[in-house]
Amino acid sequence: MFLKVLGCGEAFSAGGRLHTSFLVEQDGFRLLLDCGPSVLVGLRRHGIDPMSLDAVVISHLHGDHFGGLPFLDRFYHAFGRSRPLVVWGPPLLRERFELAMGAFFPGSVERRYELELHSYARSFSVGGLEALALPVDHDELTNPHGLRIGPLAFSGDTRWTSTLLELAEGASVFLCECGLAVPGKPKHCSLEELRRHRSLLRCKRLFLTHLGQDVLDLLPLPDFEVLEDGMEIQI
Ligand SMILES: [Zn+2]
Ligand SMILES: [Zn+2]
Repeated sequence: MFLKVLGCGEAFSAGGRLHTSFLVEQDGFRLLLDCGPSVLVGLRRHGIDPMSLDAVVISHLHGDHFGGLPFLDRFYHAFGRSRPLVVWGPPLLRERFELAMGAFFPGSVERRYELELHSYARSFSVGGLEALALPVDHDELTNPHGLRIGPLAFSGDTRWTSTLLELAEGASVFLCECGLAVPGKPKHCSLEELRRHRSLLRCKRLFLTHLGQDVLDLLPLPDFEVLEDGMEIQI
């Protein structure tokens, strides 16, 4: 499995990082893990043809994680995608996608390709990869989930929760959000909590992502690997 970081920024693009979108490739199957509004920037910046994507998996329904879907959809419509696009996301994916479409591209109801929107339950399969979606502790209205796709684990956005231990168990790579330096009001995981629980996370490699400005200000970290836009990881 191959991972390319298109964007690993948080909602406010601290550090000039693009919104969260990871390109995951296995056996020629290409999926996007989260689809931030800057996804087309990320793909084109690295010379990746947006048409080459087979599927998208969304962790939760905050704009910085799914807001790129309307742009991808209009791109595929405008440039004549010839095959279906499969999108997996939490319950309410279709409803929120249609709201976003109506707001961003009013009246654009024609679609010259097939868009398959699916809501996941606990386990599902995408491109032959076994996937797991576990509810995490973030803004409830966004239906937040952490995801496991084959050997890759991703926290999504969440406060520290023991569910992260389950997600990370046996993973080759775990991408864990770290939105804050110390625990605070926003529903994000803090560096302080990750340090405290690091030894319990049983994954081979752990990378921090979705860094808030206060965490970016502490880089480089002596004890954690941190994602960068454009980074490539062999899994
Ligand atoms: Zn986010
Ligand atoms: Zn979020």
